[in-house]
Amino acid sequence: MENIGHGGKEIVERVMPKAAAIKRVEELKAAKVKTLDVRLQMATEVIDIAYGFFSPLEGFMTKADVESVCDNMLLADRKTVWSIPIVFDISEEELKKSGIKQYDEVLLTYTGNPFAIFDITDIFTLDKKEVAMKVYGTTEDKHPGVKRTYQYQDKFLGGKITLLNPPKINEPFTRFWLTPKQMRERFKEKGWEMIINHQTRNVPHTGHEWLMKGAYLGAYGSMMVDKPRGGVLVNAIIGSKRPGDYIDEAIILCQEAQGKHGYFREDIFLTTCSLWDMRYAGPREAVFHACMRTNLGCTHHMFGRDHAGVGSYYDPYDAHRIFDKLPKGSLNITPIFNLDWWFCPVCDEVTYMGFCGHKDKKASFSGTLIRSIIQDGVKPPRRIFRPEVFDMIMECAEKYGFGNAFVTEDYLKRRNPVFTIEPLK
Ligand SMILES: [Zn+2]
Repeated sequence: MENIGHGGKEIVERVMPKAAAIKRVEELKAAKVKTLDVRLQMATEVIDIAYGFFSPLEGFMTKADVESVCDNMLLADRKTVWSIPIVFDISEEELKKSGIKQYDEVLLTYTGNPFAIFDITDIFTLDKKEVAMKVYGTTEDKHPGVKRTYQYQDKFLGGKITLLNPPKINEPFTRFWLTPKQMRERFKEKGWEMIINHQTRNVPHTGHEWLMKGAYLGAYGSMMVDKPRGGVLVNAIIGSKRPGDYIDEAIILCQEAQGKHGYFREDIFLTTCSLWDMRYAGPREAVFHACMRTNLGCTHHMFGRDHAGVGSYYDPYDAHRIFDKLPKGSLNITPIFNLDWWFCPVCDEVTYMGFCGHKDKKASFSGTLIRSIIQDGVKPPRRIFRPEVFDMIMECAEKYGFGNAFVTEDYLKRRNPVFTIEPLK
C-alpha cells in the first residue's frame, strides 16, 4: 500500500518524461492545437494537480464535481471528501476567440513556454454567489476567498492535466519544495512512521515551537532516544500574498532555523513548502489541508486556533468541529487540535489554555505584539523569539524583503518568483 493518497487511491502523477514531452509539443504545434497562456494562479494549480498534491484529482473540476463539493463536501463520486473547488476559468471572449470546444486537447503555456496539456471534457458556468456562500459561508467580497471567486472569469473548463515542463523552483525555495512522492521518500530515509504536519504562514515564535512540541508528544507518547520513529513536518504554504503577510523567504528560512540551531533535533524535524493560494475558508480549508497533507504522506495534522480563518467569519474552533461532521473513515490522517497558547508570567513559561490556570494574567502572543517586536528590530527575550530565528527574520528582511519582513507592494512587484517555467529543450 505504498504511495496511497487521499481517497485511498495511488498518488496521482501526471508528468510526461522530457524527451516524450519535447516530441509531443512538436506534434501539437504541427497539428496547430489551440493554446492558452495561463496566469500564475492557474499555473500553481496545474503543478499541484500534476504532482498529486490534490490527489485523487487528475485535472480541473467539472461542473458535477464543483456542485457536489459545494453541496456535500464530496467529489462527484459521492465518496471522496473534498471541500474547496479547484477550477480553471476563462472569459467568454477568450473562449470564443480560441474556438475551444468540449473534448479538445489544449496546449497550456506559462510565460510563453510550453507547460501542460489540458484535455477539456466540460465547459460550464457557475453561480459564483452560490459557490461563495456554500464554501465560505458568506457572500461578502471583503473575504479574500470570496473575492477570488468573484474575480474568476465567467466560463470554466474541466478536464485532465498532463504536465509537460516541470517548474524550476527558485532560490531560496529549491531545497524545500518536494513532490508528494519525494516527500514520502524522505520520510522513509528518516525512518519516520509517524509524521505530524504543521501548517504555517508564519515565522515561528516560541508559541509555535511549543505547539509543535506539544503535538509531537501528544501523538508519539514514548520517544526512543536512538531512533525516533516520527517527526514534525513543517509545510509552509507558499502562494499569493497580501500586504502585511510575512514574506515567504522569511517563513521558510526561519522555520528551518529552529532545526539548524537545535530547538528541534534535526532527526525529528523537516521544513518544506508547498504551493497553494490560501482561500481563508476556515473549517473547509482545514479539511482541504488535511487532504493535501495525506497526499504528502503525513499521519497527523495540527489544527490551531482559527485555522485558515480570516477576520471574524468563523468561530476560532469551527475548524476543529468540522472534523466531527465528516463521515467516519473518510480521512486517512488524524487531526491534532491545539487550543490557544500564551506566555504566563506566573508559570513563567509559554503555556496553553489546556494547562494554565492563570488565564487573567496571560500575555498573549497577539499578531500585533509580534509584529511590533519585528518592526522595532530590537532582539526580544529568547522566551518569545529564539535569537537565531530573530536574526534570520532580520537577514531575510534585508536580503529578500527590501528592508521589510512583511509583504509590501514593492515586494510584490520586485520579488524573485518562487518558480519559473523555462523553455522546453
Ligand atoms: Zn500560568
